[in-house]
Amino acid sequence: MTGRVLVLGGTGEARRLATALVDDGVDVLSSLAGRVADPLLPPGEVRVGGFGGVAGLTAWLRAHPTAAVVDATHPFAAAMTAHAAAACGLTGVPLLRLQRPGWTPRFGDDWRRVDSLAEAATAVAGFGSVFLTTGRLGLAAFAGLTARCLVRSVDPPEPPLPPRATVVLARGPFTVSDELALMRQHRVDVVVTKDSGGAMTAAKLTAARELRLPVVLVRRPPLPAGVPTVATVEDALAWLPDR
Ligand code: NAP
Repeated sequence: MTGRVLVLGGTGEARRLATALVDDGVDVLSSLAGRVADPLLPPGEVRVGGFGGVAGLTAWLRAHPTAAVVDATHPFAAAMTAHAAAACGLTGVPLLRLQRPGWTPRFGDDWRRVDSLAEAATAVAGFGSVFLTTGRLGLAAFAGLTARCLVRSVDPPEPPLPPRATVVLARGPFTVSDELALMRQHRVDVVVTKDSGGAMTAAKLTAARELRLPVVLVRRPPLPAGVPTVATVEDALAWLPDR
């Protein structure tokens, strides 16, 4: 294909897409929010930092000729996804949403779905030892928990944290045996996660299954209407040449 592809990134899928496009000789610019101190960088050109809302991204697209945008941000990056839909609508730049499928429970799993981090905090109120794997942003929703809380994130979380929080800094992928050891060590009795999907961070669900622990799963935000959506990098690559 001719012209530049803007990949809105911050995920493994975005890096794999950029890698495949660079290998095919496509001009790719990957965009990262700049949240992580030491991000895994995709091949090709990379820009870091927000665009400045819908107006900023619209102006950016007008100033930088772009054949297509692939929004490969995390399923919970709802603001960026909404901004991309609005700005591409205003400029006429073709937009594709690449979003991996959510996780599905197995027979016997005790998964409790909630709509927000605040609802997740309510759902774990009666437990004694909570494993919070929702990322370092939004932990304020759990600040009122009096239970022991194991908090895992890539970079140090910012306060407020639950008063009895133990912070573990780590970046996936994690193995099932790592997750089992961590959960046993901290005597976890409930796991809280967003429905991020994908294999990179699914081991905690397998470990919870083996330990027969309940999992509180935050539902994904809805996708913007009218934006074509695919679940795999391969499907994104198939969509691009026609743009
Ligand atoms: P968000 O709430 O949707 O976005 C907040 C703001 O950050 C956006 O309005 C935009 O700023 C900027 N932004 C987000 N993604 C960007 C990108 N790829 N390139 C340039 N600017 C971006 O997003 P978030 O949940 O904070 O996530 C931030 C980044 O971390 C995303 O790239 C996402 O893929 C990655 N990530 C998120 C999660 C999660 O659980 N949310 C997990 C893993 C990775 P402007 O309005 O100034 O343009």
